[in-house]
Amino acid sequence: MKMEAEQRRAHVVVLPYPSQGHINPLLQFAKRLASKGLKATLATTHYTVKSIHAPNVGVEPISDGFDEKGFAQAGSEVVFLKSFEEHGSRTLSEVIEKYSSTDAPVTCVVYDSFFPWALNVAKQHGIFGAAFFTNSIANSNIFYRLHCGLLKLPLEFHDEELLVPGLPPLNSRDLPSFLQSPGTYPAYLAMKLRQFTNTDKADWIFGNSFEALEYEEAKSISDLWPAKLIGPMVPSAYLDCRIDKDNTYGASLWKPLNIECANWLETKPPKSVVYVSFGSMISLTAEQMEEIAWGLKESGFPFLWVVRPSELDKLPQGFGEFVQEKVMIATWCNQLEVLAHRATGCFMTHCGWNSTLEGLSAGVPMVGVPRFADQFTNAKYVEEIWGVGVRPKEDEEGVVRREEVVKCLNEVMRGDRSDEIERNGRKWMELAKEAISEGGSSDRCINEFVEHLASHGEEGRQVD
Ligand code: UDP
Repeated sequence: MKMEAEQRRAHVVVLPYPSQGHINPLLQFAKRLASKGLKATLATTHYTVKSIHAPNVGVEPISDGFDEKGFAQAGSEVVFLKSFEEHGSRTLSEVIEKYSSTDAPVTCVVYDSFFPWALNVAKQHGIFGAAFFTNSIANSNIFYRLHCGLLKLPLEFHDEELLVPGLPPLNSRDLPSFLQSPGTYPAYLAMKLRQFTNTDKADWIFGNSFEALEYEEAKSISDLWPAKLIGPMVPSAYLDCRIDKDNTYGASLWKPLNIECANWLETKPPKSVVYVSFGSMISLTAEQMEEIAWGLKESGFPFLWVVRPSELDKLPQGFGEFVQEKVMIATWCNQLEVLAHRATGCFMTHCGWNSTLEGLSAGVPMVGVPRFADQFTNAKYVEEIWGVGVRPKEDEEGVVRREEVVKCLNEVMRGDRSDEIERNGRKWMELAKEAISEGGSSDRCINEFVEHLASHGEEGRQVD
């Protein structure tokens, strides 16, 4: 029996929350596991399954209860999350069942921490369960402490600073938006806290970060929340190059204009272009969009701006005519390809965690304009802790004005601090590569997991 088990390939089913910023790192983890000999299958919603094209990773559809349009069909996060739990539990279970009589039964579910119910499904099948946290460890540290009462709402500030062990002092503007104003997205705040309800029962906890980047943040809660840092989960071509032809995540919810962007970048001098993207979720106010647009124009730098189709009508009237050959507006692109291009000199970003890790991995100076969720904390680290960028000031209405955009772009592209920012960028890029390369801190954690599954796969298959 044992012999048979050893000959089988361990099989991991990876379950992301179905948004771009969650599918990307979990799919990348699946690819990484497959490159180390495991069988890996991504289970994702009917609505997103068509967007996945990753060699060596299988794909299985599951249901969130809204198979045509996903979240947009649900109308609210409360309805969506409840429906996902109900339909997702059932259909994830069916996927595990489907493989049970094959030569590759599922050994472990690696689930997005937004779905703690997936651990119950894994345990009902008597297999291993691993939680994957897609945010920074600093962010998890804060929410973990809130979950178990080590921090309490309303938060207590001392001289306008919140003191959290393992983290630098935080001002109100550095906190995740759900804590700056807890009333605004109660369902998301509840979900952020719920992530930790059963992590003590999970066989592994993974965080998409790396030891050198967030050592203290992880260490200060490791007794309670022992996460293994396995990041950055960024395609291998930009880091260790050990996965063949791995230069894109393999999941695009929008059609990327890669050739057009590459051709345009080719016409620009080294480090001259500002790449601008606010990720896949947030929607800027028309006023904010206008201020950024005119700020970019006034800065005089050529810029490539990703404006999703739903945001295009917020661009100022006639904007295209004013800026002409100095600008490329793309509805989507392969962000890493743009960041790694020699012409790119700066990344104006909303500081989503993936974008932040990608900017660090590519060593590109950043201008952080956070708008939502954990982006505020990430922006603080970008500017003050890692020293790889700057964060524009908002006015009393919370808007970053055009003069501030110009000032910050000048600061990172050619200001007094630009050399230092560039040096820091190179340092973090090297440390990111080191972490995921053979023998690096993240690589060792991944190997431990792979080896454990390869040799103890059958032990996981015991009903609790
Ligand atoms: N992204 C991309 N093309 C674009 C804009 C973004 O491929 O034109 C990717 C980006 O590389 C990142 C993800 O979308 O991996 C966005 O995740 P992030 O956590 O930065 O932000 P979110 O979209 O979740 O707010």
